[in-house]
Amino acid sequence: MSGKKYVYVFAGGKAEGQGGWKNLLGGKGAGLAEMTNLGIPVPPGFTMTTEACVEYFQQGGRFPEGMWEQVLEALARVEEALGLTFGDPQNPLLVSVRSGARVSMPGMMDTVLNVGLTEETVQGLIRKTRNPRFAYDSYRRFVAMFSNVVLGVGHHEFEGLLAKKKAEMGVELDTELGPQELQALVGEFKALVQQASQVPFPEDPMDQLRMGVDAVFRSWNVPRAVTYRKLNNIPESWGTAANVQAMVFGNMGGNSGTGVAFTRDPSTGERRFFGEFLLNAQGEDVVAGIRTPESIEQLAHELPEVAQELDEIYQRLERHYQDMLDLEFTVQEGKLYMLQTRVGKRTAVAALRIAVEMVEEGLIDEKTAVLRVEPEQLEQLLHPMVDPSAPVNVIAKGLPASPGAAVGAVVFTAEEAIARGQGEKVILVRPETSPDDVGGMHAAQGILTARGGMTSHAAVVGRGMGKSCVVGCKEIVVDEARGEFRVGSVRVKRGDMITLNGNTGEVILGEAKLVTPEHSGLFGKFMTWVDRHRTLGVRANADTPEDARVAREFGAEGIGLCRTEHMFFAEERLPFMQEMIVAEDRDARVRALDKLFPFQKADFVGIFREMEGYAVTIRTLDPPLHEFLPKTWEEAQELSGKIGVPAERLWAKAQELHEVNPMLGHRGCRLGISYPEITEMQVRAIIAAACEVAKEGRRVTTEIMIPLVEDIRELEHQRKIVERVAQEVMAQYGTTVDYQVGTMIELPRSALLADEIARQAEFFSFGTNDLTQTVMGLSRDDAGKFLPFYIEQGIFSRDPFIVLDEPGVGRLVEIGVQKGRATKPHLKIGICGEHGGEPQSVAFFHRAGLDYVSCSPYRVPIARLAAAHVALGKALSDTV
Ligand code: PEP
Ligand code: MG
Repeated sequence: MSGKKYVYVFAGGKAEGQGGWKNLLGGKGAGLAEMTNLGIPVPPGFTMTTEACVEYFQQGGRFPEGMWEQVLEALARVEEALGLTFGDPQNPLLVSVRSGARVSMPGMMDTVLNVGLTEETVQGLIRKTRNPRFAYDSYRRFVAMFSNVVLGVGHHEFEGLLAKKKAEMGVELDTELGPQELQALVGEFKALVQQASQVPFPEDPMDQLRMGVDAVFRSWNVPRAVTYRKLNNIPESWGTAANVQAMVFGNMGGNSGTGVAFTRDPSTGERRFFGEFLLNAQGEDVVAGIRTPESIEQLAHELPEVAQELDEIYQRLERHYQDMLDLEFTVQEGKLYMLQTRVGKRTAVAALRIAVEMVEEGLIDEKTAVLRVEPEQLEQLLHPMVDPSAPVNVIAKGLPASPGAAVGAVVFTAEEAIARGQGEKVILVRPETSPDDVGGMHAAQGILTARGGMTSHAAVVGRGMGKSCVVGCKEIVVDEARGEFRVGSVRVKRGDMITLNGNTGEVILGEAKLVTPEHSGLFGKFMTWVDRHRTLGVRANADTPEDARVAREFGAEGIGLCRTEHMFFAEERLPFMQEMIVAEDRDARVRALDKLFPFQKADFVGIFREMEGYAVTIRTLDPPLHEFLPKTWEEAQELSGKIGVPAERLWAKAQELHEVNPMLGHRGCRLGISYPEITEMQVRAIIAAACEVAKEGRRVTTEIMIPLVEDIRELEHQRKIVERVAQEVMAQYGTTVDYQVGTMIELPRSALLADEIARQAEFFSFGTNDLTQTVMGLSRDDAGKFLPFYIEQGIFSRDPFIVLDEPGVGRLVEIGVQKGRATKPHLKIGICGEHGGEPQSVAFFHRAGLDYVSCSPYRVPIARLAAAHVALGKALSDTV
């Protein structure tokens, strides 16, 4: 016989297990053991370990050797503690068998209550309780539950017989059935089981127990549990524990009851006991919502002694666990029993408040508080949101690309958004957005697109602007010509009000009520603790002085990426950009660039002022030029009138520049190499702005970043221009400013040759958007069409444009870091792709040795917290 211990008893005020043994005993088992050891009233029982479950599966569905003998011994100890005997017709012990994995998987696995009831033992129950109705009600519930969970007979079949019985008796409620009818139902249920499963319902309590435990172990692998694990990154290999516990009954009359409670308010975090209970009821009645529970305060009036004991217990448990707890209890004839304690789920607002207040109360330290709030949760605290208590009319659902909620009148073009957006709130609805729409996106409260994935233009720009954004909403048909969009038979016209919920992807008809989360002192205080515990720097991707200001408010320590092209899309600048693109020769191009120069310089001056004392990384022009040109002949004609260039020429140029996959075409440093005057103008604007701001007595640190480099000669080429122009400008201003030249590492070749490239670079910044695209061969613009299927099929667990693909793209990042630092040990390295604000990816970048991450301003607090978590050694498995 194997000597391994598979069963841990909790009985008679002592438990063999402990609260810390969650991996072995599961969350429920560990909680029951801990409460027992604390002397808190818990019905006695025992836990079969997760290891037993794992071995059960390894042996093809057989209990490990020796486990059942241990179960029998444990059962004897429970019997002894209560003076009851399992299967005894006079004085029967009844038990529950419940699952309980390491982490809570609410409702995913199985439970059987009242195990041990037979035709014989039910008589004992009647004698003891003097309540035949109660006994037969428990019995018929047991037969249905057991047969459903263990034998796989459909729940609805029992419901059908119950409904029939009520109809026969002419009653409406279950509670109106008397003991005879319930007894008859037990017989009918058993006949049904025999017929459906070809086996008689087990009449031996020990068989029932064995089959119950077997079913609970098996329920680890039922489809819904498997799906839940996949969604929540819970390993298959963990297995579940099974808990057998003496039954207590909350439905034994007016001095019995059952309830659930939280030690603090789980939605606001307020320090008050919060919960609900029902007199004369079982747990499932509370969950099923058949009767409306009463607030826990009422318990003091109904059962004052129980209320007082519960009060003492919850305070004790909270002090013991040093966290907000979720409790389940049952009162059987005036005696209180605790059935469960575990760390309670909470909203973001509550998580923050509880963490900060528990530090102030001396319950936990700062580090613990920092680890108590999940980075993603902070998102909820940064944007207005749809009031969860207000009813809404959801008409469609897309991808939640940028969080927060927005209400506004529907408009269909960027021009309309700009025109109407002056005085009213608008939502820009487009089939998809392009750089032309940026002005309109800015003017709108939110953006809704029918196409595109999480890294589509609308998603990236929307997130950057902190606008609520729902993309890829396939159900909507945008009909600009008719001034409407349709979802099935619903028509939403220009000017109609809609609400976007960027947290869920929901499109809501009408004006939903929004609430703005409070940024009270708690948030600021919490974030100072966060910053004390991280080593990774956090910068922002920001393109305008306004973005830079927001970024600073959110705690960014500099700008990691300023995409200069975004500055060219403003209405008064775009024509000069277009003039530059269609110029026939260098002189004409330079003339157009000279017109753009003052705008760029003014933006840089604004940004440097906002970012005083912090580094600002400015990238030279990156996108393919056709993005700035008309898409149709009609647009070309219209533009022709504006910039005085014949429409034919504009159209010919647009055709000439057209690319099938622009993201691999004439873009990045390839532009600056073909048209050095573009780089020259941009460097002139950067250095001139830096000189002007430095002359104001401010500290300016700028980093000029060359995009899409794959060969050291490209960088050399651009670097020469930067240095020459910088010298000229500084000489003109009669001053010098600090500047560095670096590159983006966003192509596989540049990561592989990073040791060479580092010779010409003072810093690297990983462009993980392009790196993901080029390492994985996935187009950023088109992958959204099929990635959802990949995720559904489990080929990818997450969208690699959102969560960094560590084995592939991450490997290239590691190679780039290692090679870059082999040439320059102190090379400054950051990352500025969208992954810079995603917690799991941030943890990876910390481990890869990067100096900083850079993300959109609104994600800065999330990245700060994720960086603190990884520095505090939070293991990935803890985050599930
Ligand atoms: C990147 O490729 O990761 C990046 C930041 O640049 P962009 O998204 O502008 O191509
Ligand atoms: Mg890029």
